[in-house]
Amino acid sequence: MSQHPETIALHHGWRADPATGSVAVPIHQTTSYQFNDTDHASNLFALAELGNIYTRIMNPTNDVLEQRVAALEGGVASLALSSGQAASAFALQNLARVGDNVISSTDLYGGTWNLFANTLKDQGIEVRFVDPADPEAFRNAIDDRTRAIYAETLPNPKLHVFPIAEVAAIGREYGIPLVMDNTACPILCKPFEHGAAVVVYSTTKYIGGHGNSIGGLIVDGGNFPWAEHAERQPALNTPDPSYHGAVWVEATAPLGPVAYIIKARTTLLRDLGSCMSPFNAFLFLNGLETLALRMKQHCDNAAKVADWLATRSEISEVIFPGNQSGETRARADRYLSGGYGGLVGFEHRGGREAGRKFIDSLEMHYHVANIGDARSLAIHPASTTHSQLTPEEQFQTGVTDGYVRLSVGIEHIDDIVADLEQALDKAS
Ligand code: PLP
Repeated sequence: MSQHPETIALHHGWRADPATGSVAVPIHQTTSYQFNDTDHASNLFALAELGNIYTRIMNPTNDVLEQRVAALEGGVASLALSSGQAASAFALQNLARVGDNVISSTDLYGGTWNLFANTLKDQGIEVRFVDPADPEAFRNAIDDRTRAIYAETLPNPKLHVFPIAEVAAIGREYGIPLVMDNTACPILCKPFEHGAAVVVYSTTKYIGGHGNSIGGLIVDGGNFPWAEHAERQPALNTPDPSYHGAVWVEATAPLGPVAYIIKARTTLLRDLGSCMSPFNAFLFLNGLETLALRMKQHCDNAAKVADWLATRSEISEVIFPGNQSGETRARADRYLSGGYGGLVGFEHRGGREAGRKFIDSLEMHYHVANIGDARSLAIHPASTTHSQLTPEEQFQTGVTDGYVRLSVGIEHIDDIVADLEQALDKAS
């Protein structure tokens, strides 16, 4: 029986603990798991049998979170990791090796930009940045060594929704999967329905929702024909010397279309060790239970904040998908349902100084480097989240001097607006 997101978030992957009847998912705070006998142990290591070995690679609490998010996304399996950064890195390192390249949208979180422009480059993986306004630009950047395309569904600060289906279709022509970072709009967008092959999340944001834990997830859509593109995707189609010569598409075939995610778990997570703590997985499961409800309130409040900001004369521009027009708005309407998300940006006519004064004057909003908290948050990206980018890179990602980003929370709308109003009055 297929269920709705609100129901999946509460029930999928867990009923009650068979030993104790515990309804809440227990925190399995253990490093390792007792093997039944030596045959059982060697079968687990050989992947002849699935089961728990060691918490760096799997954990029963994390497993419920992984199953639940995979079901919510309409994917086949997922992998919990220590942060969103780890999820973005693993998602690409799972396919691209030294000398390969990946094409990425320019509209990115600053940390992801750094990872791509510097760290992956140092590891021998070139990331080619492309302006997503024209989907055909992705086609033009493809060559024989292109292994993946990467983008964010609702990237801040521009908040221009990415043309998922258009770019996914181009990638599929060449055997190249589209990896979507859906961090800013869980529930609102299901990238697999539009042709994406992999979804990544910083669970730190809306999925956790309470600003208490860092985590990430990669979800495998199970919808990409890796075996049909053996030359294009050698990482999954040639013997892996790190796993006694396993060819991942063949070795995992009896388990379903899970080659991509099993490889990520059994090689990258095994070797790099960026695992999610079971305690954090427990907190993310708690967050997930109210995710759909919170997203509704974030969206409602953000739309009202955007409308209210538009009435203020000291603001030259309000950035919000619901206020956009033309092709950009058409994409927002096509890919988001149930609202335009909880992020709102604005340009203060007074530029950098007025923007900073506004933030320093906020009383209820928190001034933090985060989004997706139940509380309302504000930040000045040019001097914080995107400060390590060059001025040209800041321009490409859409960060300007006077830009203020709000992550609108779930408080009463009147209290949110009252705080914005008194801060704007002080900054003017
Ligand atoms: N992706 C997006 C869209 C983000 O906003 C962030 C963090 O701000 C990340 C990825 C990285 O996530 P984390 O901070 O959990 O490593």
